[in-house]
Amino acid sequence: MPEQNPTPTPPVLREAEYLLESPLKCPLCQQDIGSIQVVRLLRSRVNFVSTLPRRGYVIICPSCQGIISAELTGIA
Ligand SMILES: [Zn+2]
Repeated sequence: MPEQNPTPTPPVLREAEYLLESPLKCPLCQQDIGSIQVVRLLRSRVNFVSTLPRRGYVIICPSCQGIISAELTGIA
């Protein structure tokens, strides 16, 4: 019997949290947020000739967990 693992809200693996120097309004949920959270991106598939970096990160709203911004970085 396969193990049932009921997770009502799938846990987001947050890499880090950063405080904002001044509160901003999330463009997605319109909440005033005092911090943002960062989730790491790992490249899983790529075109052979792609020069895109292997890694990056996504900045998410701690309130709605929507993606506010994403960055790719060449730093390994
Ligand atoms: Zn939000």
